[in-house]
Amino acid sequence: MLAAMPPTTSPTPVNGDGAPVRDRADACPGALRLHPADDGRLARLRLPAGILTYRQALLLATVAERLGDGHLDITSRGNIQLRGLGESCGAELADLLHGAGLLPSEAHERVRNIVASPLAGLDGTVQRPGADVQVWARRLDELLCASAAATALSGRFLFALDDGRGDMAGLGADVMLLAQRAQGRQDARGVRGTQDARGAQGADTAVLCIGTNRPERTASGPLFTAFQVAAADAPKAALIAAETFLTVATATGPGAWRVRELPSGHGLGEAVAAGLVEAGIAAGPTSPPPDLPEAGPPPPGPVTAGDGTTALSVYAPLGRLTAGQWRLLTTVGGSGELRVTPWRGVIVPGLDPAGADASLDRLRAAGLITTAAAPSYGVSACTGRPGCAKALTDVRSDAEAATRAAATGAVPDTPATGAVPDTTGTDAVPGARPVHWSGCARRCGRPAGGPGGGHVDVVATADDSYEISLRGRLLTTTTAGPELAAAVATARTTTVTR
Ligand code: SF4
Repeated sequence: MLAAMPPTTSPTPVNGDGAPVRDRADACPGALRLHPADDGRLARLRLPAGILTYRQALLLATVAERLGDGHLDITSRGNIQLRGLGESCGAELADLLHGAGLLPSEAHERVRNIVASPLAGLDGTVQRPGADVQVWARRLDELLCASAAATALSGRFLFALDDGRGDMAGLGADVMLLAQRAQGRQDARGVRGTQDARGAQGADTAVLCIGTNRPERTASGPLFTAFQVAAADAPKAALIAAETFLTVATATGPGAWRVRELPSGHGLGEAVAAGLVEAGIAAGPTSPPPDLPEAGPPPPGPVTAGDGTTALSVYAPLGRLTAGQWRLLTTVGGSGELRVTPWRGVIVPGLDPAGADASLDRLRAAGLITTAAAPSYGVSACTGRPGCAKALTDVRSDAEAATRAAATGAVPDTPATGAVPDTTGTDAVPGARPVHWSGCARRCGRPAGGPGGGHVDVVATADDSYEISLRGRLLTTTTAGPELAAAVATARTTTVTR
């Protein structure tokens, strides 16, 4: 049901360089800074590299039931959100999180935004000790929490650690570390390494990437700068890049929360180079910046690890699990650790292969997505009504209804739209491409990247309708119902051509 309300989004003012001008601090929610929503307070808990022990996961399930609405939302950065929290639960929530080791530094709790390749070391790719993204994540988190300057980072500033497969490259991180293998050794993609920019042939290296390699996302053109550093120096180099960003952002004017928001001529690359030298980190610029590999998320299902164990890859329908579903993940025989992914999924490592299929069946029976053939795979949605005051509609119910209708064939025939002209795309999508439903034009939680050249964008509008777009091009406008389901299904499978 759509309600006619005016859009509430007002764009951030920009200066002559296209850089934002803000007179307020970032208001991103955290575990201590609870956001007031229509369904109660909202807490967002950062999980560096998405890692949770079973004990921590069970604690979160208990917290969701005791203090919240009994659900756990997985965000597009692999963090956990709790909703429906009471007005006065903040102190109790903080105590519980402290007790579980989930709040190592209160001052840094909102800036520990670190995503990492979730299948690193779990699918047969070899992680060398010096270039293991899990090790990098722990070290970077320690360094962040020890940096007084880093407390000034926005809650939106993102670090991404890629084991070489390229799954992090599409997430638009501000600072990314890409693991590389030294000459003669294979990286996670099976690509043999080459001599690095510093001539080092005997050690693994990392490419430190600053800013996005997607010019269309920047305010002032390409901002991508890259340096090659020794793998052992990578976490420190990432912190230096972030701290230098803060210095440059302050010097160039108010308002930049992300690297891509810096005004033109910001000089961040030169400043980072100087900072690395000052810290004694040998770094060579990679010129031109490398073409980053891009890989998609881990598909749902079993994953065979090189050590003879099996990992399970599962997804949360519309990014939300009940406390019971969440607890079930800790009972299927894994190694005691969960990896929450930036695609609203969870990896359960360390299962005996003999019992993996039965465990996957249990998770499927409980409602989790365990196969790419599941109708709800690739479908995400924002909170919408009734939780969000800005929402024009109950977008999650509409998304579920449309997904059900498409799965059962209960959709009318739609005129063939044929190929969608696209000036930036290069690809055809073999299956259904991801779709994100938004209750208003803010598009909270939309995927930053993904396979198949982007997601279908379904946005509620003020005139009782939804707009369906792909790559910024409006495909159609329709009201909720069978036509909407058909239009979304068509958009998800339409071939994209140049
Ligand atoms: S996109 Fe969704 S969650 Fe975000 S403000 Fe709009 S309705 Fe609310």
